Amino acid sequence: MKFPHQGILKLGMVEGEWVVGVIDEIRMPLNEAVPRPLLVDTKTRYKATLPTEAQMRNSRFQLMCYKYLWDCIVADNFPSGDFYKCFDLDPQSTLSEDVGEYSARLGLRAKTLEDVVNYFIDTCYLLPSSQEKLMLRYEYQRDHSLLKEYVFDHDANWFKGQILKFLEFWSGVREASFVSKDEQWKCQFCKYASICSVTAGSDCSYRGSSTLLIRHISNISQIKRDPRRMDSHANPNILKVCEK
Ligand code: SF4
Repeated sequence: MKFPHQGILKLGMVEGEWVVGVIDEIRMPLNEAVPRPLLVDTKTRYKATLPTEAQMRNSRFQLMCYKYLWDCIVADNFPSGDFYKCFDLDPQSTLSEDVGEYSARLGLRAKTLEDVVNYFIDTCYLLPSSQEKLMLRYEYQRDHSLLKEYVFDHDANWFKGQILKFLEFWSGVREASFVSKDEQWKCQFCKYASICSVTAGSDCSYRGSSTLLIRHISNISQIKRDPRRMDSHANPNILKVCEK
């Protein structure tokens, strides 16, 4: 079963941090006794060229993060108490007319936010964990022709190592660092490129110069508010919405 290009919002905690992501596609194999979903992400390429290994590494990380979110949510109870607290939400708040009508169309008898969250938890409980394989697809923007499609294995150890490294920055344990050489493609999207010593060829330092950084790379965004530092190098595939 395939649901092409229907973004499926995933929300969950990774190492104590709330993370939001949108899974492009979930494929459910029909010919397996116990079908487990295959998570798929499709990247659109402006030029009909293949991505670099560094870009693919970022995409692999993104998909592994989605798998982690999916598997955690279907395996455990969604931490609804933390969710309300972190996002400052009142579980008893009444749904707006639009949301109420939408939930009714889905067959849900939900009146409050808590009703919706409970439906979400019950639904997740019935879902199987995802496959250990993940699929990345690259399409040419002009005609949507397939440039590359490849399946790779989830690597839980590598993923955890990467997450912990990023969280060290987010939690203030380490300073931001410049991008590595093979990641310098990110600089073309960076609003600090004109003052950065890497791109401007000067010695000027950007550390501590930013109060708010909003980056957009393709359909990816990351928001960080911290007066002490900026992060232009942590993986941009996650929208980080709250620090605990
Ligand atoms: S601050 Fe921006 S321009 Fe400088 S190395 Fe990082 S991404 Fe590149």
